[in-house]
Amino acid sequence: MSGHYDLIAIGGGSGGIATANRAARYGAKCAVIEAGPLGGTCVNVGCVPKKIFWNAAAIQHSMEMAPEYGFRPLHGAFQWPALKTARDAYIQRLNERYGVGLMDNGVELLHGHGRFVDARHIAVHGKTYSADHIVIATGSRPIVPAIPGAEWGITSDGFFALEQQPKCVAVVGAGYIAVELAGVLKGLGSEVSLLMRRSHFLDSFDPMLREVLMDAMLRSGVNMLTRRQVTAARKDAQGLTLVFSDGEALSGLDSIIWAIGRAPNSGELDLAKAGVLTDSAAYIPTDDYQNTNVPGIYAIGDVTPRPALTPVAIAAGRRLADRLFGGMNDRRLDYALIPTVVFSHPPIGTIGLTEDQAREHHGDDGVKVYRTQFTPMLHAFSADPGKTAMKLVTVGREEKIVGLHIIGEGADEMLQGFAVALRMGATKRDFDDTIAIHPTSAEELVTMR
Ligand SMILES: Cc1cc2nc3c(=O)[nH]c(=O)nc-3n(C[C@H](O)[C@H](O)[C@H](O)COP(=O)(O)OP(=O)(O)OC[C@H]3O[C@@H](n4cnc5c(N)ncnc54)[C@H](O)[C@@H]3O)c2cc1C
Repeated sequence: MSGHYDLIAIGGGSGGIATANRAARYGAKCAVIEAGPLGGTCVNVGCVPKKIFWNAAAIQHSMEMAPEYGFRPLHGAFQWPALKTARDAYIQRLNERYGVGLMDNGVELLHGHGRFVDARHIAVHGKTYSADHIVIATGSRPIVPAIPGAEWGITSDGFFALEQQPKCVAVVGAGYIAVELAGVLKGLGSEVSLLMRRSHFLDSFDPMLREVLMDAMLRSGVNMLTRRQVTAARKDAQGLTLVFSDGEALSGLDSIIWAIGRAPNSGELDLAKAGVLTDSAAYIPTDDYQNTNVPGIYAIGDVTPRPALTPVAIAAGRRLADRLFGGMNDRRLDYALIPTVVFSHPPIGTIGLTEDQAREHHGDDGVKVYRTQFTPMLHAFSADPGKTAMKLVTVGREEKIVGLHIIGEGADEMLQGFAVALRMGATKRDFDDTIAIHPTSAEELVTMR
């Protein structure tokens, strides 16, 4: 035996670190087990490097727009390796900061791969540790399709490791990661094809959002290949090729990115030794309080079937620590009304029910929808201006706002404050009574008729 803790978190990503730090501040003796760099997916191969590349693409868009604002044309040839070097250094600083944070809180870091020995013991590198409370926060990993030649492609992890910018790239997938990577690459000057099985992407989003984004991406020059089922990938003298089920192919690629979904990291934990059950997709289900089926073992973040977002993993973990060590017996994360941003070009901000979901839950008569579409002032001088679109979904006679959907410049930064309003139960009347901020795009949200 190598030590006993009040709490062990398996996984030093967003959720595990947040849980252990919060528990330690209540005086609990805590450890985090981490097999890789601290910070997990978000810091190393997710939100952070993605947003840095998104910022770079946004700067490129601004440079393209600059002549419309009276600047002489700006020609800043983008240097992928320079940005990657700066980005890696930034991430390393974050890794270190997480290490210091754990140390400051007195949380021990156990390097290595954790596996259950039984419901109270975890083995790491031949040593065994015990804890009264064990939090599984092992996250998820990208899926690679089971087709011939899949090894010629990379996943989002591989994308962030690229030393050079791909010139001609196919992104396969229809979720937000596929859309974001395709947008970033196109913005930075790559030739990009986005391939999806259906006629649209972002399936769970309000149709208005995906329609406006589809239009924007087509106009930006993304080669949108819908209703394509990829059956194989291969490499030959012309480069990489994707083969489709209808026999057609897309060739001359120098990079293929699989962005077809993610799978939970639950398979290598020896969960059976602790008796922890998973669902049919290998996620670890929990009750509202993050309890698994085994008392004293909890799961948070991407390894559970909950929304896979960093703030969700952090909030679930902190509330769990509040409950276990802070005397807040009923503390738990309310998973309703979680705001989400897609860092597309332009970005999407969305919270609550889509129009279809609202009609399904409340019936057509109980739902009233407000929508607007306009050219943001930023694009006032453009020959081919981008569009901003907004939708408010309200229910009942009091017109309580149950869904708010925005696509357009600034949507990413607009959403947070409106999310507070929705959580507080805002009605259309509350929005109407709020004085607009002029001239902004956000003002349209409080002036819709
Ligand atoms: C490309 C991309 C972009 C994203 N963008 C955003 C975004 O903009 N906003 C947002 O909110 N979310 C975003 N996400 C999602 C976000 O990264 C995750 O929701 C978040 O990281 C989940 O946190 P977690 O703690 O559950 O898991 P992770 O952060 O993945 O941490 C899990 C950790 O556990 C470790 N681990 C796994 N198994 C073991 C083991 N047996 N022993 C020891 N350690 C182990 C892993 O090495 C990892 O460090 C993005 C994800 C991706 C892939």
